[in-house]
Amino acid sequence: MELPSEVPIRYLKGVGPRRAEILERLDITTVQDVLLHFPRDYIDRSAVVPIGTSRVGESVTIKARVVSVKKRLLRNRSVIIEVRLEDDSGRVTATWFNAPYMYDRFREGDTVLAYGKITMFDKPQMVNPEYDVLSDEGNESLHGGRIVPVYPLTEGLNQKLYRQIVGNAVETHASHVQDMFDDRYLKERGLLPITRALKDIHFPRSWALAERARHRLVYDELFLLQTGMALRRRGIRDDLDGIRFAMPPTVDRKIRKRFPFRLTRNQDKAVAAIVRDMCSPRPMNRLLQGEVGSGKTVVALYAMLAAVANGWQVSFMAPTEILAEQHMRTISRILNDSSVRIAFLVGGRTKKDRAPDVKDVAAGKVDIVIGTHAVIEKDVVFRKLGLVVVDEQHKFGVLQRARLRGKGANPDVLVMTATPIPRTLALAAFGDLDVTTIRELPAGRRPIVTRVVSRSHRHRAYDFIAGQLRKGRQAFFVCPLIEESDKLDARSAEETYDTLSRDVFSTFRLRLVHGRMKPEEKEAVMHAFAEREFDLLVATVVIEVGIDIPNATIMAIENAERFGLSQLHQLRGRIGRGSHRSYCLLFPGSAGSDAMERLNVVASTTDGFKIAEEDLRLRGPGEFFGTRQHGLPELTISDLGRDYDILRLAHKDAFEMVKADPELAKGRHPIISDSVRDKFKERLDLIRVG
Ligand code: ADP
Ligand code: MG
Repeated sequence: MELPSEVPIRYLKGVGPRRAEILERLDITTVQDVLLHFPRDYIDRSAVVPIGTSRVGESVTIKARVVSVKKRLLRNRSVIIEVRLEDDSGRVTATWFNAPYMYDRFREGDTVLAYGKITMFDKPQMVNPEYDVLSDEGNESLHGGRIVPVYPLTEGLNQKLYRQIVGNAVETHASHVQDMFDDRYLKERGLLPITRALKDIHFPRSWALAERARHRLVYDELFLLQTGMALRRRGIRDDLDGIRFAMPPTVDRKIRKRFPFRLTRNQDKAVAAIVRDMCSPRPMNRLLQGEVGSGKTVVALYAMLAAVANGWQVSFMAPTEILAEQHMRTISRILNDSSVRIAFLVGGRTKKDRAPDVKDVAAGKVDIVIGTHAVIEKDVVFRKLGLVVVDEQHKFGVLQRARLRGKGANPDVLVMTATPIPRTLALAAFGDLDVTTIRELPAGRRPIVTRVVSRSHRHRAYDFIAGQLRKGRQAFFVCPLIEESDKLDARSAEETYDTLSRDVFSTFRLRLVHGRMKPEEKEAVMHAFAEREFDLLVATVVIEVGIDIPNATIMAIENAERFGLSQLHQLRGRIGRGSHRSYCLLFPGSAGSDAMERLNVVASTTDGFKIAEEDLRLRGPGEFFGTRQHGLPELTISDLGRDYDILRLAHKDAFEMVKADPELAKGRHPIISDSVRDKFKERLDLIRVG
């Protein structure tokens, strides 16, 4: 028997070439694809109701005999088919308009399952009900008298037609799907065999069985995802010879002496993990996450100095020039009077201008290169690259990371992100990275006060902001985000800017920055703000990325309910970086109770992880990252908001399998290997290059 994955869909009973074309729009080309195109919902039609007890307006399933079949022609020449149905309790007429072919579908004496809404028009009727004629043997119906699946479909298909196609596929092919796990494996984990799961996901005999089927299929999906991660990680880590750095206590002491403070407990833990990685012969691949200001950069600097002490070069890449500069300043300050040589490479410099630096990097005369994308340009060649640090992980594609990695002989890689990533997502999207989290902020930092400002208090809030500005502080005023449109964003920011500078803050210096400005223009404004050349910055979310302006103590956010919770938290992280108390003011636009509840989450906690979990729950993973760049493949059945336990198990199982059988050659592993390839298709090179 052929595998369902090898049977073209047009050969399935009920399909043919024309429908095959329609199905292709759903990415369905084989019978297996039908089996793996899961219901988006179910309708419970399991309770058959006596006609006599059903009420007008109710949607019901009835089981009835056909008493008569009539065709009527109306004066406007339209056709009505009327099928009178009865059971022991009563009668109802099923009616179809302009569907003359329905006349031939029924015979007097047939038994029919009909599902529809009871309406009253002279007498009880059902208009255009879904139905099924039961054959004499009383076959199990696909469409009524049971829990019925509802599918995501496309034009040219209807639920009933498609359900029939699925029914055929399940009946003839579900038992030929290869199970990638053997019975013992399934039993140990309480998973259904694949054939059972496929039957029950489409045509569940009870809600409990639907849930068990889903559980098995979620496990499969997450297991394949994690297998992909495990293979990718193996490709970049376990398989490769990395650098074995040495970390004698003298070096540790020397590095720590450079910092004008003691590392926090969390920083120490992160440093320990990194040192362990760096001293191991396998390349490091670690994600360091922590709130803005939690001290990640300092930890990264520790790693960088350790690499330099070992005679290796380091590259440190930030997502924007302004951030690169900020890092440059911090690091130069800490390293001033040391012999470490630093170069700064950003896109803004001309080729000629940067040529000497590029030459020094190639000659090994530079220890640390700090910069933006410019660091991975072709002309930049390192003599001895040992460590790569990437700030703000998800702003960089995986490919860029790979390119950086390609510039050295398997250098260690440390990725930093200030976006707290919920543990589910971290595992799903970065399952191939080791993750270290810094949870505490350095002591002495004052918590930011966050308030949701109601309409009636707005003017008081303005007065408060003005008071801060008079004291010499600065303020951010972030404008509503309008449906991802730069143009509208810009306009709303402009309007806000006009209003604020005309009346409320007319005695202060205001400037504007928005997404439609050129990068240089934006950077110039941000610079001026950092240099205290003006008091209040009206902005769209372009300021989201981690610029450090210690003198800014106000973050006012207009129409705050339109932002994701994590985004609000990120924005809030732009303030509270200096010695003055800072305030985040959230102005809701429309104050629905949902919106208020969400905003109150942000106001009530400063724990970014708690906010992130809530955000994920409310918006789902795609929205959470805001882009598809995060490398997370489309999940068709899993819900990362609720399937964390399954994910964890799948992660453990997949990594253990790949460790024990890296080639996936043993037992049923080749089936798994094929499925991973199938599922990741175009993402496969990502798996290869890491
Ligand atoms: P992040 O990179 O996570 O945003 P940084 O490493 O830039 O955080 O640190 C934020 C600020 O806190 C910097 O000014 C840094 O000098 C300071 N800092 C970092 N670690 C400590 C510490 N252990 N004690 C006191 N201040 C610290
Ligand atoms: Mg930082």
